[in-house]
Amino acid sequence: MCGVFGIFGHEEASHLTYLGLHALQHRGQESAGIVASDGQGLKSYRAMGLVADVFTEAILDSLPGKAAIGHVRYSTAGGSHVRNAQPYQVSFGGGQMAVAHNGNFVNADEARRALEDAGAIFQSDSDTENVIHYIARSRAGVFEARVVDALQQLDGAYSMVFLTEKKLVAVRDPIGFRPLVLGRVKNAYVIASETTALDLIEAEFLREIEPGELVVIDEGGLKSSFPFEKRPQSRCIFEYVYFARPDTTLFGEQVFSVRKRLGAQLAKEQPCQADVVIAVPDSGVPASLGYAEASGIPYDVGLIRSHYVGRTFIEPQQSIRHFGVKLKLAPVRSTLEGKRVVVVDDSIVRGTTSRKIVKMLKDSGAREVHLRISSPPTAWPCFYGIDTPSRQELIAASHSVDEIARYVTADSLAYLSLEGLTRAAGDATGKSFCSACFSGKYPTGLPT
Ligand code: AMP
Repeated sequence: MCGVFGIFGHEEASHLTYLGLHALQHRGQESAGIVASDGQGLKSYRAMGLVADVFTEAILDSLPGKAAIGHVRYSTAGGSHVRNAQPYQVSFGGGQMAVAHNGNFVNADEARRALEDAGAIFQSDSDTENVIHYIARSRAGVFEARVVDALQQLDGAYSMVFLTEKKLVAVRDPIGFRPLVLGRVKNAYVIASETTALDLIEAEFLREIEPGELVVIDEGGLKSSFPFEKRPQSRCIFEYVYFARPDTTLFGEQVFSVRKRLGAQLAKEQPCQADVVIAVPDSGVPASLGYAEASGIPYDVGLIRSHYVGRTFIEPQQSIRHFGVKLKLAPVRSTLEGKRVVVVDDSIVRGTTSRKIVKMLKDSGAREVHLRISSPPTAWPCFYGIDTPSRQELIAASHSVDEIARYVTADSLAYLSLEGLTRAAGDATGKSFCSACFSGKYPTGLPT
């Protein structure tokens, strides 16, 4: 899970990249980095931490030039360490290049073993580094041809930006797992994981980068091509469920509206006798509004979220995550006392958060707690860039809905059906989704 950003043709490229990353911060909070080009060479800065903490005015001033790329990272492959912070910057036979990646390659381990056998020395433990080695080894001519050459040897999810001294290159895998959009501000082109980044810098949203599309931006303008073999498209449905920011326009529709629809569909499928609908903030807010509207049960605020802690799930250590729920959420007793409460969240992963939330609501006087989840049971790990734990840690992989209800101590628990999710997410309008985390049906080969 990561966010990528790129800009070409703006005097303040690194400053705008900083703002763009800020608007993509929800996609990764472990590390942040920017690489800028002044037309002659690349300069970079990467560090662990949040965008606003990593960069200062002086650091941004040390990244001059009209082109830049940036990255926020949440480790899915490779540990949480600064050597894995992106964008990576290297010198190779063709000059200098930098790369930032959102997604995961499923054949990365196999590719790495082969490259290491052939003498490659890796600097990080991330799957992204394979691309750099393949680009360096490619015998193709221009840089973008080397990129294509490299990516043809890898499979999986990639929304990526590359920067050389003279070019910005963006590419999205043919399956289209992760989002990537194109925008324009003044005479500059902008690439970003989500439209939130365009909105903040007042860039106009032009269009999505299409699955399988390669875009090259340089002094001559923008060129688009489709160099990869066509494959059935399969956009990540979990971006709609949880990951993308609600104000983002994703796969043609604003995420907030989609999430409200998921909540409305959930109310239809899984009604409940209750006095009040509350959300687990922030992730459950849109769906709970949809649930309340469709069910006619009033919506109220039953949990307050502290904005001074990160997402509980983000911290890699179990001990911090457990502690984090209380740090993050506080109950509103006046909403809960004596009430039958429907509490809506977007997903259950390990079940630890839900268990603590149900206890917190009951301890605060709720008479009944009915948990409603606006997606199906998460029973399969994601290999395409969402950080889900191994199958053993996913509670739904080994427990029935009734067992999970007992574990989280809810009076009732119900999930949205997969059919309801895909329909409400817009399947009927021709969008096709990857829902492997719910179905176990993976659109590529499994990791090697
Ligand atoms: P858990 O305690 O593991 O069941 O955590 C579930 C909570 O984590 C839900 O409130 C989700 O909003 C959130 N969540 C679901 N998937 C992820 C993810 N991949 N990364 C971070 N948070 C997540």
